[in-house]
Amino acid sequence: MHFSSTRGTVETTSASKAIINGLAPDGGLYIPCEFPALGNFIGLSYEQIASKILQLYLDDFSADEIDEYVNKAYCSNLPVKINGNFLELFHGRTLAFKDVALQIFPYLLTCSLKKNNIAKTAVILTATSGDTGSAVLAGMADVPGVKALVFYPSGGVSNIQRLQMTTQEGANLHVFGINGNFDEAQTAIKEVFNDKNFLAKFSDKFLFTSANSINIGRLLPQVAYYFFSYSEAIRAGKLKEGDKINFLVPTGNFGNILAGYYAKKMGLPVNKLICASNSNCVLHDFIQTGVYDKMRKFNTTVSPSMDILISSNLERFIYDIGGSDLVNTAYSSLASTGKFSVDKDMSDFDSDFATDSETIATIKKLYESENYLIDPHTAVAQCVYEKYKARSSDDTFTMILSTASPYKFPETVEKALGKLPAGEPASIAGLEAKAVLHSTETNDIKGTIGAVLI
Ligand SMILES: *Cc1c(COP(=O)(O)O)cnc(C)c1O
Repeated sequence: MHFSSTRGTVETTSASKAIINGLAPDGGLYIPCEFPALGNFIGLSYEQIASKILQLYLDDFSADEIDEYVNKAYCSNLPVKINGNFLELFHGRTLAFKDVALQIFPYLLTCSLKKNNIAKTAVILTATSGDTGSAVLAGMADVPGVKALVFYPSGGVSNIQRLQMTTQEGANLHVFGINGNFDEAQTAIKEVFNDKNFLAKFSDKFLFTSANSINIGRLLPQVAYYFFSYSEAIRAGKLKEGDKINFLVPTGNFGNILAGYYAKKMGLPVNKLICASNSNCVLHDFIQTGVYDKMRKFNTTVSPSMDILISSNLERFIYDIGGSDLVNTAYSSLASTGKFSVDKDMSDFDSDFATDSETIATIKKLYESENYLIDPHTAVAQCVYEKYKARSSDDTFTMILSTASPYKFPETVEKALGKLPAGEPASIAGLEAKAVLHSTETNDIKGTIGAVLI
């Protein structure tokens, strides 16, 4: 399968090259040229479903290579568990759903480099709203031929998110706080990718790429849990084969929910993909009105991994509904005026949002009624689920994606419940005692990259 750019001005490329490049050379995002039907998947294991999906898209990898990487990534440490109608995606190394993709991504990247005979060191530039950073660092620690540089908003991550990053060991890892929010970090990194003169200074030894969800190698592994959870819901007697399902997805950069949309395009019987925003509800407004307007106040919320106003992966959806013409019109309007509007059918989606006080009240309510503890991001989704049920007559079975462990956000859980219930995972309990290895703050991302690579 080949991959093309959402901006439509470069040739299509192989899967391995798309993974290496991260961003397409014209500044667009790579999208698959087609969406093949998955075929039968009911009753298969997670690993079998993941292999089947990746084999359809990554066709310059052999089936043996994909099986090997899927097994190495997931056999002994599957991040995915189902608990009632919650699809818990946070049982991986860093306790957030980013692990699902980032436990396999390093294998896909290093194999892609090998396939293309690239002997340079791959430099992974990452902007994080909190959870991507630690998942990238854990995934890339001491991987030969790779350096990872992570930039996080100093005032915009939880204490545990910060410690997970700043205490991560690995000689090839570099972590920096920046004085800005996630959007500013993400925009600065995109600028680096588009600054060909800057990159040329390092190009004899280094190749720059991204492990953010703009990389297609991050997105495709996420399609698997949509199929898997459907199959498991059948096993649990909640659905019959062919029944429709809704997914409720706490959303920031639109990567997770887009993987669900791709699953639908591959034949999964999805009724609605319901996008849950926090008070940075730019996506909710877009889905309801067709107007995307980032010109608004940026809020720092109790669900920091969703504090985003520039939602990168939305570009892939815009491409899907209107091709590169619509992408180019929309994104030049976004660049010049801060907004764009589209007049297209978006009925695959619904949406709502939750404020911080609603989020905190939802954690409390679910814990008191069901004795089930959820993190603030999942609570945004649960709150939106309740709002959706109250205002629609839709009784389709709904899977709520649970994206982080509540123990990653103890301050907010304590606010909701008075104290943190027992059950903290060992990896978090030990964090405070670990040495902080990365404490540099910077406002000069290019200068910092240059200094690391000298
Ligand atoms: C990244 C993240 C999200 C948002 O996912 P997107 O793919 O960016 O929409 C939601 N919750 C948690 C805990 C996250 O880490």
